[in-house]
Amino acid sequence: MRHSVFSLVANALTGNARWPRQWRAATPKPAYDAIVVGGGGHGLTTAYYLAKEHGLTNIAVVEKGWIGGGNVGRNTTIIRSNYMLPENSRFYELGMKLWEEMSQELNYNVMFSQRGVINLAHTSAQMDAFARRGNAMRLEGIDAELMTREEVAARLPGLDVSDRARFPIVGGMIQPRAGTARHDAVAWGYARAADKLGVDILENCGVTGFIRDGDRIVGVETTRGAIRAPKVGVAVAGHTSELMRLAGLDRLPIESHVLQAFVSEPLKPLIDTVVTFGAGHLYISQSDKGGLVFGGDIDGYNSYAQRGNMPVIRHVAAEAVSMFPNLARLRLLRHWGGVMDMSMDGSPIIDVGPVPGLYLNAGWCYGGFKATPASGFCFAHTIARDEPHALNAAFRLDRFAAGRTLDEKGIGPSPQLH
Ligand SMILES: Cc1cc2nc3c(=O)[nH]c(=O)nc-3n(C[C@H](O)[C@H](O)[C@H](O)COP(=O)(O)OP(=O)(O)OC[C@H]3O[C@@H](n4cnc5c(N)ncnc54)[C@H](O)[C@@H]3O)c2cc1C
Repeated sequence: MRHSVFSLVANALTGNARWPRQWRAATPKPAYDAIVVGGGGHGLTTAYYLAKEHGLTNIAVVEKGWIGGGNVGRNTTIIRSNYMLPENSRFYELGMKLWEEMSQELNYNVMFSQRGVINLAHTSAQMDAFARRGNAMRLEGIDAELMTREEVAARLPGLDVSDRARFPIVGGMIQPRAGTARHDAVAWGYARAADKLGVDILENCGVTGFIRDGDRIVGVETTRGAIRAPKVGVAVAGHTSELMRLAGLDRLPIESHVLQAFVSEPLKPLIDTVVTFGAGHLYISQSDKGGLVFGGDIDGYNSYAQRGNMPVIRHVAAEAVSMFPNLARLRLLRHWGGVMDMSMDGSPIIDVGPVPGLYLNAGWCYGGFKATPASGFCFAHTIARDEPHALNAAFRLDRFAAGRTLDEKGIGPSPQLH
């Protein structure tokens, strides 16, 4: 059923009881032309673009849980392309353009809201760094504006811009086209669109091993039986190391860490943009339901636990209150965690291999949600053509061995700092 004002009204008048399933509950076939492991944002967009751009419709997405249960449904939904290195900014700007047309393209309202992302500066050196990054962005045709302290204050009325603040604010940078979207709608929208193109979405179907023919991977063992395919793409975010171990790779330049987020009780409109604290690591936005959504640093140790803990809440809450003192008595509503695939240089990996028949999509760190459409677009190209697209040519795995890392922040191989 196409979504339109007419289908909305018709379903509202009939008690919303007649909406069809958004995608089929497919049964695994013994073989496909390609399999994508991982039904998160990246796996679903990859399948969608494999079908749409490359005509591969005999394909399956193999997901161990349910669609939207991974990081795609756990993130703080910040979408931006304010990167400095050209390899990153070009890739994320493709993503931004795809976000701008996503709801129309999928016929699914992903609630993409271009409310801007403001990075706060607390020192003049930080303002200089923002000017450098903003100029680099503008050279790539990406929007970026520096803001004075007064402009920041006018945009964020609750923010403490006084000299009494723990870390006084001197200004900021905004990317006006950046913003947020509804994360689970993105997963559902791509699942529905891929299904419509013939893709089988296999939920509750965990990959437990790989089928080999000599060196080559020719399929996967799953909890729902063996499935063969000449091409197997892996897009499992925080579980990449585990999956690749099953493929015989013990060491990857990736660590798994938990990233937490929490949301407050609903408030009247208070923050109409996304704002990041420049003196620590905190990002806040306000959801359409009114809750303030907070995120901070990853946990400092490796873990696969999809849950949060008190030290991070305290840390993030302290930073929030130093920015917005009026939040001190806010009550928190929910709190959760997701397992992140942190790469050693902070940039992703989208590549052919490292084993014949296998294709790898990983290393998304804090920022894989915004990459969702560009990642799927480029990974589909890489799988279909057996070579990277120009926009992911710099994201190959061998860059770590060759010393061509893409260290956006210039802080070396410390995943917890990227
Ligand atoms: C708290 C938090 C806040 C974040 N905030 C932002 C943000 O503001 N902006 C941003 O851009 N990014 C953000 N991110 C990062 C972003 O969510 C991730 O980088 C991105 O979602 C990862 O890609 P994905 O959607 O494909 O991952 P996932 O949704 O995790 O998909 C991977 C899937 O693989 C499946 N899987 C794992 N193992 C197997 C197996 N053996 N067999 C089959 N399936 C398997 C999992 O069940 C999962 O569904 C945040 C993440 C978290 C946790």
